[in-house]
Amino acid sequence: MPTFRATLERGTQSRDVEAVVEGDRLSLRTPDGRVGRWSLTELGLARTLEGFTLTIDGDRARLRVAEADAFWKAVGGQVPTWWRFWSPATWTAWWRQRRAWADYRSKARKLDARIADATADRERAARELQTARRRHDWIRSLGPRDVGIRTTESETGLATVPDVTLLETRRREGQVAWRAVDFGDVHFTDRRMVFCGSKNVEFRYAELTTAGLRSEGLYVAVSTRKRDHILAGPSERLAVLLDACRASSEGQDPAAMAVAETNRASGLLESTAERLAALRRERDGLTRPGRPISPAWLPGLAAALLLFALGAYADGNATTSSSAPPSNPVQSTPSPAGPTTSTTTTSTTSTTTSTSTTSTTSTTSTTTPPTTVPVVAGGSVDGEMAVHFFDVGQGDSTLLTGPDFTIVIDAGRHDRDDVVAHLRRAGVDSIDLLVGTHPDADHIGQLADVLAAFPVTEVWMSGDAHTTRTFERALDAILDSDAGYHEPRAGESYDIGSAHVEVVHPTTIGGDLNDGSIALRVSFGDVRFLFTGDAEAGAEAAMLQRGHELSADVLHVGHHGSAASTTAAFLSAVSPRLAVYSAGAGNQYGHPSPEVLQRLADQGVEVYGTDVHGTVVVTTDGEDLTVETARRANAPLPPPTTTTTTTSTTTTTSPEDETTANACESWQVDINRASFEELQRIKHIGPDRAQQILELRPFSSVDSMTRIKGIAEKRLADIKSEGIACAG
Ligand SMILES: [Zn+2]
Repeated sequence: MPTFRATLERGTQSRDVEAVVEGDRLSLRTPDGRVGRWSLTELGLARTLEGFTLTIDGDRARLRVAEADAFWKAVGGQVPTWWRFWSPATWTAWWRQRRAWADYRSKARKLDARIADATADRERAARELQTARRRHDWIRSLGPRDVGIRTTESETGLATVPDVTLLETRRREGQVAWRAVDFGDVHFTDRRMVFCGSKNVEFRYAELTTAGLRSEGLYVAVSTRKRDHILAGPSERLAVLLDACRASSEGQDPAAMAVAETNRASGLLESTAERLAALRRERDGLTRPGRPISPAWLPGLAAALLLFALGAYADGNATTSSSAPPSNPVQSTPSPAGPTTSTTTTSTTSTTTSTSTTSTTSTTSTTTPPTTVPVVAGGSVDGEMAVHFFDVGQGDSTLLTGPDFTIVIDAGRHDRDDVVAHLRRAGVDSIDLLVGTHPDADHIGQLADVLAAFPVTEVWMSGDAHTTRTFERALDAILDSDAGYHEPRAGESYDIGSAHVEVVHPTTIGGDLNDGSIALRVSFGDVRFLFTGDAEAGAEAAMLQRGHELSADVLHVGHHGSAASTTAAFLSAVSPRLAVYSAGAGNQYGHPSPEVLQRLADQGVEVYGTDVHGTVVVTTDGEDLTVETARRANAPLPPPTTTTTTTSTTTTTSPEDETTANACESWQVDINRASFEELQRIKHIGPDRAQQILELRPFSSVDSMTRIKGIAEKRLADIKSEGIACAG
């Protein structure tokens, strides 16, 4: 009677047993003499990587046998694999695990959402505290009795509040004319001190658009007997004055009020930080169950297993010695997948009754590698990530979607409205992370539209400010939205669903918008993507110098392919397999630069461009990459032909490429692609007409240049006889 030493694990319990095989019967005997007996066929014993699994009273158990091969031989392959696979207990366990997983996911998601909210609250509280402290400092600098406006050149009570300008006003035919003058330069005839609360001081909220002061905000109007004066400055600082004035006119101490406000803000910060910490603890405390096989796998898996089991069954019947036992249909892998694990423990079996000592040291070595069954690879990711490099003209917008995340990097140009439509078409209904790499209008142009169209969990911006309306619109939209806000810095890293995001730039911002671009390295499974916004050589050198891991399979070429970016050193550190640049067809900047294309070609990188290919979608399962493009039959750009001084892009002809059908000679100026300056090499084309050309593009032929104002038959004839112009 073959007897084997083994360990039986059920749930968290584990005990040493002796396994005896006798015909169709398996007996397990514990040291204290308890015995359980089963029919092998009914038991559904199956071999796994770590031993054997069996179902006892509806519970999954694991049997580790010291001599697994001999044991399996003794069992004689009598237990067909398909039985284990089709056994109802297997499916019950699988279903239980699926429920546990779904339950975990929903709890985790809810907590994540609350954490995101709490993070935003904490940031808001931190900003409030900062504001309160600043106000406090200003009020203190005013001095206790100085709350008022002194209109004397020697006494500069107000001058201690920086950045406040005095506007002198004169009434003229019912209109008020404003003149900005420096506080220090003003001479007043009236030496009267005007105190707060007196009739002569009035606070107004107004909008000034003249005299170069376009900002709106709070203004202090000071009326003296002869003139009206207006104090203009940052609203916040004037608001401090206003509050201080009000307080002192009501007999209160403005400084004490500021202290109270600071205390309140600091208390708020403390409580939000505590709430956040509690939520984080709760999130960390969630136990993550084994992840079940994703349902998408099941039909394929079932079919493969059926074929495999039939084969194994036939083999088992033909040769009873079964030298190579069938491997378990669902391999247990480093991250437990499939129905092999069970979380429930009900100890009703006769084999285990007393408390047991755990022994988890020995993992039985197995002979069959998991090659024949399409199992979910351990440690890898489920599903796919698709990275859409949208064709948004001369601008950037990239969408990364995966099974459990949606990330948008940049939101196109301010003078177009295509990004929301692109996102909708790609099936986006909410966004986890929206990144504005830097505040240029070709990157955050439609950030406000995206925020209005979709719920966004968090927005990242570089922290640089810009003076444009587009930037202000984006900021307003962020403030109006429920999204959290963060300015990421190099060295931070985040898991957003199954995507891992590393911030590789910037460390600080120095006012150079491009070089302050947020650069991100995003990993999905074993595949990496690098996005650097409009970072130029300086920023690239900084990233290299800081020693970030920059290697990536796919590079989003920096700054639309400009020659100022993608240095050879940077490119060799990234060493991508594939590169995509975002640029508008025939853009006035000559992007992408032939030098950059050459550098990429020198490294053997496949290149795609939104100007040529339209929207480019790179899909990965975490290992392999596939590329789909809207135009041009999914073929990468050919390597650049010899670069020339004037024409901006390559002039290769291929049958499916309609844009370069009329090839231009290298010395010609392509009216569809040349830069503003280059265009002016053409006869009769000055700055005005060059601008028109940029706006009227594309031209089907040189003849259609008559669309340009001022170019008629005679001038067209001149242009054609000169021969420089061509329509590529
Ligand atoms: Zn740009």
